[in-house]
Amino acid sequence: MPEEPKNTLKPTYYNLGGNNNKTLQFIEDVTSNPDEVQKKVLEEILSLNAHVEYLQRHGLNGHTDRETFKKLMPIITYEDIQPDINRIANGDTSPILCSKPISDSGTSGGERKLMPTIEEELGRRSLLYSLLMPIMNQFIPGLEKAKGMYFLFIKSEAKTPGGLVARPVLTSYYKSSYFKNRPYDPYTNYTSPNETILCPDSYQSMYSQMLCGLCQRNKVFRVGAVFASGFIRAIHFLKNNWQLLCNDIRIGTINPQITDPCVREAVMKILKPYPKLADFIEAECSQDSWQGIITRIWPNTKYVDVIVTGTMSQYIPTLDYYSNGLPLVCTMYASSECYFGVNLNPLCKPSEVSYTLIPTMAYFEFCLSIETMGSPRLYRYRVGDVLRVAGFKNKAPQFNFICRKNVVLSIESDKTDEVELQNAVKNSVNHLVPFDATLVEYTSYADTTTTPGHYVLFWELTLNGLTPIPPSIFEDCCLTIEESLNSVYRQGRVSDKSIGPLEIKIVEPGTFDKLMDYAISLGASINQYKTPRCVKFAPIVQLLNSRVISSYFSPKCPKWVPGHKQWGNKN
Ligand code: AMP
Repeated sequence: MPEEPKNTLKPTYYNLGGNNNKTLQFIEDVTSNPDEVQKKVLEEILSLNAHVEYLQRHGLNGHTDRETFKKLMPIITYEDIQPDINRIANGDTSPILCSKPISDSGTSGGERKLMPTIEEELGRRSLLYSLLMPIMNQFIPGLEKAKGMYFLFIKSEAKTPGGLVARPVLTSYYKSSYFKNRPYDPYTNYTSPNETILCPDSYQSMYSQMLCGLCQRNKVFRVGAVFASGFIRAIHFLKNNWQLLCNDIRIGTINPQITDPCVREAVMKILKPYPKLADFIEAECSQDSWQGIITRIWPNTKYVDVIVTGTMSQYIPTLDYYSNGLPLVCTMYASSECYFGVNLNPLCKPSEVSYTLIPTMAYFEFCLSIETMGSPRLYRYRVGDVLRVAGFKNKAPQFNFICRKNVVLSIESDKTDEVELQNAVKNSVNHLVPFDATLVEYTSYADTTTTPGHYVLFWELTLNGLTPIPPSIFEDCCLTIEESLNSVYRQGRVSDKSIGPLEIKIVEPGTFDKLMDYAISLGASINQYKTPRCVKFAPIVQLLNSRVISSYFSPKCPKWVPGHKQWGNKN
């Protein structure tokens, strides 16, 4: 393996050989010289793709320099290139956006977005993963002697009309040989066998991963999932299923609901009859309080590895409770479009997390509005995240993740924006028309205290009619809202069951005036006050909750068709 990453884009140069010093040196090198690295990255992308239709359309004519690139190429969003992406999805194999064959389509976003992906992109992503543990090892040595209990999952995939696989980026990563056939590395030594991660049935996958994590509890030094929501889901799963799990551990068999033969075989390599372990887990889980359950069951755990920046920060109190305040470590910042950066100070407080841009990952631009970043795979493309520059590592920028632009509600991978919520509410209030009732004001709240979390809408109504509105009408309103939300939300409700039924809480007349009074008492301008369409601040949620007259839940799941593609709005 060459010592230096000479060609910044070729995946073969990316394997840093699991050598911590080399990895840390790589970070030093690329962050000391980001301008030069970025220039090269852009040159390589533009020269490799000089003849692609999209660049030719904008008259780039083989130019590879920054100035011409910025002058000729517009800054775009997903919608701008959706016609090109649709052509690719429909089977046009000519070089439209990229000279290399498109191997896969990552999906993401509030609505499904298809992101054309090439094979070597996975190599680049593997590199970013390979940086994480050498960074961590500087702060918590000895992690190589133990295992990580990570709850990792795949999602269902679909085919585009032209035959490309469309699936979320992590699903394609876990299914790739970069993950499946990774050479033994103490840093990627997980309690979950690959077969349990790759099991498409989410119940079987979770059950078997938890079972393996429990059996190997003393070997576990770190626990986690990609996002905080996924990890909390695992803990709630344990809460609901510990009797079944203990039963399996006691007799050394797997319950018959786990039907996937690969999963059964992989688990049976780990599972033996452990009656004492079963007694121990039973004693812990049957206690009334689940405070510190993570450290009680997995006593050697040093930290919880989950993303708690952005909307995920809503889960911090719950994680603190279950882990007795173990460090919450946010290691990286990534998206379907591109992986961006790593946290070089992983033991810092969640509120202080900053990510350092790794300049080999993509060609980055901070837009003038200083709020969005571009990724070169899609040529001057807006990702749509709001960041704040926090400082520099050598010469590479570090930034705090502030929020995703426009997203108001999120439980897990769903991202609902204000416009979408407004539209859903508009559709649902049609049910009130026959009762001569009108919606005066509304706001929303992502309630993550329930298992799973769910969307709550606070509604204030004016009732002009004489006929009382029956509960079934409000239930219909709940369901109509759910039917109007994007497919990622509906998948979470129907297939993944990671989102609970939507709830409408009717509040007393005058509640929203009280809300405004409260905001003004905190310094909001009367002129500029707008009812927030989503509330997070605990006293405001309390105020609303204290005025609830009645509440209604969606009576059933909304419609969701597996693999049904609905491409569209990016948040
Ligand atoms: P997707 O494109 O569906 O994979 O989602 C990517 C988005 O997830 C990013 O654009 C961010 O909005 C969010 N995200 C990813 N990593 C982080 C992180 N470390 N902190 C906060 N949000 C993140």
